[in-house]
Amino acid sequence: MSIATHIESLKIDLEPIGVSLVAVSKTKSNDEIREAYAAGQRVFGENMVQEMVEKYEALPKDIEWHLIGHLQTNKVKYIVPFVSMIQSVDSLKVLNEINKHASKHNRVIDCLLQIHIADEETKFGFDHAELIEMLRSEDYQHMQHVRIRGLMGIATNTENEKVIKEEFYELKMLFDGIKVSFFRKDDAFDTLSMGMSSDYSLAIEKGANMVRLGSTIFGKRVIKHYKNND
Ligand SMILES: *Cc1c(COP(=O)(O)O)cnc(C)c1O
Repeated sequence: MSIATHIESLKIDLEPIGVSLVAVSKTKSNDEIREAYAAGQRVFGENMVQEMVEKYEALPKDIEWHLIGHLQTNKVKYIVPFVSMIQSVDSLKVLNEINKHASKHNRVIDCLLQIHIADEETKFGFDHAELIEMLRSEDYQHMQHVRIRGLMGIATNTENEKVIKEEFYELKMLFDGIKVSFFRKDDAFDTLSMGMSSDYSLAIEKGANMVRLGSTIFGKRVIKHYKNND
């Protein structure tokens, strides 16, 4: 099946149930992205700053770029002018930096707070206590140029569906709790981004309303070696 066919069939599955689709285009060429774009896809996810900037410059300007990979504070300035959503906010420090640069550009940037739900230590994200501490902090409450739209999580990379379901369930419970405690009057806090190609049906079953799919759309990624300092 072609990229366009994948996009079309995912739309048929996801739109009626209110789940939005982020097409994860990391390592994919501009031509492959154009093919998805021609099929109507507008939201694309990238995990490397430099790659996202290059693609932004080369591709249609109505694409909404979501950053889904760890963001270093010194790279924030490169994406703030155009990024549509930063899904991988994993510290108060990086949120501060986003706020600071966004203010220079007179923008309010949509962000998701990444929560560490996986077994693996290697993955980024807040734990529950850190999340609550941040939302209560003075620093956070004074930020005028970021808008927290919800939470994002990556489940453990395992064949064990029970483990994955538990992690997604935990994230949904946290999302509901945070919504009630901190964002009850804020309609913009509405996004729960969980699920990738291998586990998105489980994520939707547990309450995701945004999924991030790469290989399901574009086929398997060939491993490429990027500079480590991104
Ligand atoms: C790469 C990536 C995805 C997509 O992975 P696939 O398995 O290709 O669907 C989703 N989310 C994040 C954070 C990623 O880095």
